[in-house]
Amino acid sequence: MKYRHIVIIVTAAALSGSLRAGAWEHHPLITRHVVDTIPHISNADPVQAVSLQEFLLQEESGIADLLAREEAWARANLAWYAPRPDVLAFQPTGNPNDICHRFFRAIRVNPSIKTPLYVTHLAGQESGGANILPPSAVSILRSTPMLEAFVFEELVPGDWVHPVDIVSGASNEPDYGMDVGLFSDNGTAIGRIFGFGVQPFGNPNLDYGSQAPFHMGFYHESWIIYLFAGFLKQSYLEYRIHLFKALSEYAFSKGQDYWGWRFMGWGLHYIADMSMPYHTTVLPQYSTLRMLWINLLDMLGLSKYKNNAVQLVSNRHMALELFQGFTMAEACRNNNLSDPVIATLRRDRQTPVYTDDLPRTALAKASYDLSARMDKAVETYMPPHFVRNPAVELANCPNRFNIVEMVCAEHGEAVIASLVQLQAQALDLFSTYGRSYALNILENR
Ligand SMILES: [Zn+2]
Repeated sequence: MKYRHIVIIVTAAALSGSLRAGAWEHHPLITRHVVDTIPHISNADPVQAVSLQEFLLQEESGIADLLAREEAWARANLAWYAPRPDVLAFQPTGNPNDICHRFFRAIRVNPSIKTPLYVTHLAGQESGGANILPPSAVSILRSTPMLEAFVFEELVPGDWVHPVDIVSGASNEPDYGMDVGLFSDNGTAIGRIFGFGVQPFGNPNLDYGSQAPFHMGFYHESWIIYLFAGFLKQSYLEYRIHLFKALSEYAFSKGQDYWGWRFMGWGLHYIADMSMPYHTTVLPQYSTLRMLWINLLDMLGLSKYKNNAVQLVSNRHMALELFQGFTMAEACRNNNLSDPVIATLRRDRQTPVYTDDLPRTALAKASYDLSARMDKAVETYMPPHFVRNPAVELANCPNRFNIVEMVCAEHGEAVIASLVQLQAQALDLFSTYGRSYALNILENR
């Protein structure tokens, strides 16, 4: 038991550290380039914005049936699924005052989330004239420079909005606090009633840390890791992916297209997270034997190796996100369609037919398989102080926002290009499986 306990500590600490900044930065930019090149979406007509409250009131009994079917599906198909307590089931009462709250509790998201009507633009690219919502009107998490990279133009019910705008903006919303504070040890009232139990991995004390099991999934580690750390399988990524797909399909089937597109965007967030190698791999570049070995040393009192591994993977994860966020925002601002990431996201391709296990079996596997190369590149080319010094906490380095300039000064444009190329390889996975997910929703219309 002691051995198992130590493995848990290592991996939990590793994950908590690696989760501070979410997954990919700027989901709206990533998603926009994919959905903008799916003709079913880019050629679709604008739709009128509808508030969540109005949508739920119009569809209350149908949503109740749908969520009951979803619960049955999750219990039957997800091995580690913690059943939703029956008391949280969505009951059609007709009460407009608490209908959003009842819905949030039934799908077990943080009921404090904001769901305003708005369109997301990169700062500086707003259309002008519209009321601008502050970040606190869309996100319940504290504002960050990455969130401030966007402006949120308010819509009112009945405003016309294009599906590309709805889906791309919505694809950032799961990082606005939806999955924060849901476990029993997160110190929240909802955590005590939601039935998810103790947080299986990730650090419950961090701002973003408690969303880890909803945004990360470790499906392809060695069996022996699971033997000692079975909790690593307790991911709710597939739960969210399936739930939001079902809600999207339901909304479209009732002619509620605004919410069909918006739920599609929520689901695509989790598909994109799965393409991020640090979200599918516990310790990239570590063999199973090496992982077990540093645990053994830790057991013997030599914790240095474990702690170093944890800190380094955390810093590298964050370095990659920062680099990706800045390079992608720059390419999007310049509308540089030949940028490898943008070109990859927009490239037409054969997409596999979507099945419910496709994200796990194909997408997460490909992402996992890319993790060692990605980690090696980050280790080699990102500033050594950031990614090779375990005494450094990157989140505390003010100059981390200059990471692109630092890499360029040290290694030149060719290395920048090679790192962007590697990111394109990972995001190519999102382009493939995100298309597959979206097209399957639309085919079922
Ligand atoms: Zn995420």
